[in-house]
Amino acid sequence: MSAMKNQVMKTISLSKLPVRQRHLLKQICRLADERDLSVYLVGGVVRDLLLKRGNWDLDLTVEGDGIAFAKLVAGQYGAGLAVFERFATARLTFPNGLKMDIATTRQESYAQPAALPEVEPASIEEDLFRRDFTINAMAIHLNHAQFGLLYDPYGGRDALKAKTLRVLHAGSFQDDPTRIFRAIRFEQRFGFRLERATARLLAQAASANLIQQLSGPRLRNEILLLFAAQDPVRTIAWLAQLKLLRFLHRRLCYTYNVKRVVAVIPQALAWWTRRFPDSVIDRPIVYLMALSSESSPIVVATMIRRLVLSREQAKKVSIGGSRIDRALKTLTDTMTIRPSQVYRLLGDFSDEALVLLLARQVAMQHDVRLSLLKRYLSAYVKSRTVKTALTGRDLQAMELKPGPQYKIILEKLLCARIDGVITTEAEERAFVKKRIGLAG
Ligand code: ATP
Repeated sequence: MSAMKNQVMKTISLSKLPVRQRHLLKQICRLADERDLSVYLVGGVVRDLLLKRGNWDLDLTVEGDGIAFAKLVAGQYGAGLAVFERFATARLTFPNGLKMDIATTRQESYAQPAALPEVEPASIEEDLFRRDFTINAMAIHLNHAQFGLLYDPYGGRDALKAKTLRVLHAGSFQDDPTRIFRAIRFEQRFGFRLERATARLLAQAASANLIQQLSGPRLRNEILLLFAAQDPVRTIAWLAQLKLLRFLHRRLCYTYNVKRVVAVIPQALAWWTRRFPDSVIDRPIVYLMALSSESSPIVVATMIRRLVLSREQAKKVSIGGSRIDRALKTLTDTMTIRPSQVYRLLGDFSDEALVLLLARQVAMQHDVRLSLLKRYLSAYVKSRTVKTALTGRDLQAMELKPGPQYKIILEKLLCARIDGVITTEAEERAFVKKRIGLAG
């Protein structure tokens, strides 16, 4: 509690937090009072309370043994507990689904740039000093006697008022280059500016090769978080300006055309989600696909490995821009194309690839072709729900010898259904019989 000395006392109302969270915090803090432990709410939630933005990620830090306290809380409330000894943190999941992180106040030292830090217990002041930006280095006291008091030793509140991001020390980006991406994320999300010295430090860190030393998963997390933001288009332009796209791959082709396609992805996504509300799109992956769409397959494959993408994401990204362009050309150049042909052409495209296909057409600014494509896409998505009445078992019952022809016949039936040539089971049977007759 000595940390409170020399501080202007400002009480922050926690009334913005949902009742459940507030109630839980009060109860937990009673436990801390009983053990004479100082407990604080820290990080993003404090910043967002001051900004009056919703953020229900409860991050608590304890001066003392945070993990022992987390175990106590978990036992008391029947919460699930995951402990990360190395980082002196624990994550609790309460029976009602609420989540909470409880950590030990700690300081960090970095053996080498970009490595994971060595961690040791420290005061709340030191704990706040290891954080990324002053706006994220504030704490709210939770013990009964000081409940709601803001602890802001590094001027976080002033930085919030001035809408600026400021690192806590000159070596910050070197210690942890993920802070370069975090800076861009907060800057874009809140419409803040980098304070002048911080901007200089960021530019220096960006031009060095520090990011190269980040592990694949850490780099991937940062990139995908950036692309998940409200307006990734501006973020991508900013990344390009800082020459940070080279960390996806140094030979990534960020051409004029790629820029144009990236710029219209929000438009394509908006149309797609309006038209197909049930389709779940991995939005960050659409941006990554667009960014790599004019790069060679080798570059794309290396980027996928570098980012250690999941198998599903890797499959989506590796389709490559040239396949998408070929399909687009077939669809918009051909005079007439049957629904079943569209079905076959797009059959193994992910929905993300279809959004990109649409974005590439939007970028071409050809209204007639664009509305034609939208019609094809609508018909195609509908055709994905079409099924044949007959199955392999029915074919067997019709005394057709099992073999590869089953697949061929069922596919032909499906295409005929999609084209509306066949609409009933009786017609399907007649179609099969005719084929058997021809074969016989
Ligand atoms: P978001 O709203 O995006 O979740 P956040 O600030 O809550 O923002 P988290 O990643 O949840 O971000 O981190 C919680 C807190 O931990 C931050 O507010 C900051 O104090 C600290 N922190 C997180 N990552 C870093 C980092 N790389 N370097 C220093 N401090 C960090």
